[in-house]
Amino acid sequence: MTRPMLEAENLVVAYGKVEAVRGVSLTVAPGRLVTVLGANGAGKTTLLNALMGVLPAKGALRFEGDDLMRLPVEARVARGLSLIPERRELFATMSVEDNLKLGAFRFRAKGGGGDLGEMYRLFPRLAERRRQHAGTLSGGERQMLAMARALMGRPRLLMLDEPSLGLAPLIVAEVMRTVARLRDEGVAILLVEQNARAALRIADHGYVLDGGTVVLEGDSRTLQGDARVVETYLGSL
Ligand code: ATP
Repeated sequence: MTRPMLEAENLVVAYGKVEAVRGVSLTVAPGRLVTVLGANGAGKTTLLNALMGVLPAKGALRFEGDDLMRLPVEARVARGLSLIPERRELFATMSVEDNLKLGAFRFRAKGGGGDLGEMYRLFPRLAERRRQHAGTLSGGERQMLAMARALMGRPRLLMLDEPSLGLAPLIVAEVMRTVARLRDEGVAILLVEQNARAALRIADHGYVLDGGTVVLEGDSRTLQGDARVVETYLGSL
């Protein structure tokens, strides 16, 4: 069996006395696409923030065998972790290209930043819009730019918080195809989604989070066929 790249064991994250993540264990193997599914308030964003070091957590967390728990966000970035938050956080009044350049500068992991040519190959739409202000991009284009900017830092594990949020179905499909392609190019991915159908279509493995705990786990195909997942998250569509 391949050694996991990311290993979280019994993670607990609390806001004051209220535990939003209650003993979550998960692993991501190198080059795999793992999804964490769950409804509003299940604890998905809290979990990602704890993995990134934005929120303090209890439990164990290892990345490529090293203990991450005591490392601050910058040190986790340097090891190759990258998080694209739900808000996407682009610099609205700067051009697409300048946003990308800042990605190389701000989010650089070991080994230097990615190059623009590579990003424009992966995201041809961004090449067409390189001089446009990021604030004038469509929702799907903004998500693409957020991904490309994160990739400029050459992450080894890319974590995405609901990239499908607010996007039309066709655009969701395009964003998901791109996420799958990044996995195919070798980046390990942890994809947090409410859109279970879209996420399970591309993921290798999935976890279902409810009330801050993992209630179900399995390979995507198994989850797609699981009666509880179908009933609660996939509906009859
Ligand atoms: P969504 O899909 O709506 O973003 P989520 O699964 O990402 O949901 P979280 O945002 O992690 O869920 O929230 C988990 C729980 O923690 C919720 O009950 C939420 O109200 C609570 N929570 C989140 N942020 C805070 C905070 N800053 N202070 C207190 N409670 C919080």
